[in-house]
Amino acid sequence: LTSSPTSSGLHIIFIAAEMAPVAKVGGLGDVITGLGKALQKRGHLVEIILPKYDCMQYDRVQELRALDVVVESYFDGRLFQNKVWVGTVEGLPVYFIEPHHPDKFFWREQFYGECDDFKRFSFFSRAALELLLQAGKKPDIIHCHDWQTAFVAPLYWDLYAPKGLNSARICFTCHNFEYQGTAQASELASCGLDVQQLNRPDRMQDNSTHDRINPVKGAIVFSNIVTTVSPSYAQEVRTAEGGKGLHSTLNFHSKKFVGILNGIDTDIWNPATDTFLKVQYNANDLKGKAENKVALRRHLALSFSDSKQPLVGCITRLVPQKGVHLIRHAIYRTLELGGQFVLLGSSPVPHIQREFEGIANHFENHDHIRLILKYDESLSHSIYAASDMFIIPSIFEPCGLTQMIAMRYGSVPIARKTGGLNDSVFDFDDDTIPLQFRNGYTFLNPDEQGLNGALGRAFNHYKNNPESWNQLVHKDMSMDWSWDSSALQYEELYAKSVARARTATSRV
Ligand code: ADP
Repeated sequence: LTSSPTSSGLHIIFIAAEMAPVAKVGGLGDVITGLGKALQKRGHLVEIILPKYDCMQYDRVQELRALDVVVESYFDGRLFQNKVWVGTVEGLPVYFIEPHHPDKFFWREQFYGECDDFKRFSFFSRAALELLLQAGKKPDIIHCHDWQTAFVAPLYWDLYAPKGLNSARICFTCHNFEYQGTAQASELASCGLDVQQLNRPDRMQDNSTHDRINPVKGAIVFSNIVTTVSPSYAQEVRTAEGGKGLHSTLNFHSKKFVGILNGIDTDIWNPATDTFLKVQYNANDLKGKAENKVALRRHLALSFSDSKQPLVGCITRLVPQKGVHLIRHAIYRTLELGGQFVLLGSSPVPHIQREFEGIANHFENHDHIRLILKYDESLSHSIYAASDMFIIPSIFEPCGLTQMIAMRYGSVPIARKTGGLNDSVFDFDDDTIPLQFRNGYTFLNPDEQGLNGALGRAFNHYKNNPESWNQLVHKDMSMDWSWDSSALQYEELYAKSVARARTATSRV
């Protein structure tokens, strides 16, 4: 934690609610670690601030220790103490904030989904800034992510820059505009923000419900840089259909808004070194992939009599965004086409979880279908390695990581053309795309016919032209989905913003 940036490096603070593998719900967790490591590798000092959840994977934090100092932060008219812990996750220095608040904000046995999430995360956002102020840090960039830490942007300019924490530019990344964290305007006062000043149409007022405030909108208005996680999604959210009510705000602030495609952490997601796998393998030696297929089929008690029977995988949060009706359809369609299907997923939506439990029970001892309805990191690696095809039929998809991970493990993606899927999966049969980019099968309409078309073409290819299929698998595994080029884009945005601020200060 005493490391410092190289002479040309920036000091970057990430404030976030997730970080893989210690506190991961979905892609946000992967991005914090993957982007953080890539920036660190480029010579920047990256430090991360997270809540200290009770349900974290503590065995994945190295050298965790409590600091002697206690950070006091304001909430609801008084000061609360926060114990601060430091440790290292995947080589990155992390501060964990443990609030001593009677509501035990991060002792809930889950990361999100609590009825007081607004309170929990507005408290955390303020405590994180307080930590930076009291530790005397002078970061160049404070990068906050999603609605849970969107409060950082208005808090910084309204309260913390005047207190002297004024070295930084603020970057906000929205990983999914579906989640905006709106609340009754009065609730904003708890973290010390001025409701009257902020509940205005050009500031934090929600665009459709005027007595509510919208943290994501606030971060768009108050940040120096606003990004989202793919160029196509950045276009989509600027339209009335895709913007979830924020398109006008994004259009107004379009000069500072850009879409940068996420990468994946190619150290964690590497079939050549992955210790979760039965056998490691690489693009030039696919025997190991076949052995992983046998191992998974055995493990899940699926039939393994036909090694040429294609295995379709799907790993996802089961929420409407992911096209749950199409996932369900794909299970039955795969069976009709003579394939096997493995789904790993869980749902925060009770009726969806119940529906899939019904399907799981229906296929309980089936030779060709298995549904595993839980979060399981180790099993996810085995499924990427074992599957021949991977299905991602999202209704919308800000970036999506599973298609990139699937390709790295030689599983050909079958994806709906939307958001980040549109920027990373290119149809094998599309003559308008240069051959070297064609890496999967895509469909446009989010309906059963659309999915049937793409899945059917993939099955035909797999069954009728195995040699060409193997070349496709080899090509997919050799594609570069690392963070390298995307981290460079973030670095350029940060550097430009810092340079602009310095020029402005030197003029006064
Ligand atoms: P989102 O962030 O919308 O959930 P992404 O595709 O960006 O979707 O990221 C999903 C990440 O979460 C991937 O790393 C995927 O492997 C992982 N994941 C999703 N569901 C599960 C699960 N049930 N078990 C293990 N990993 C999962």
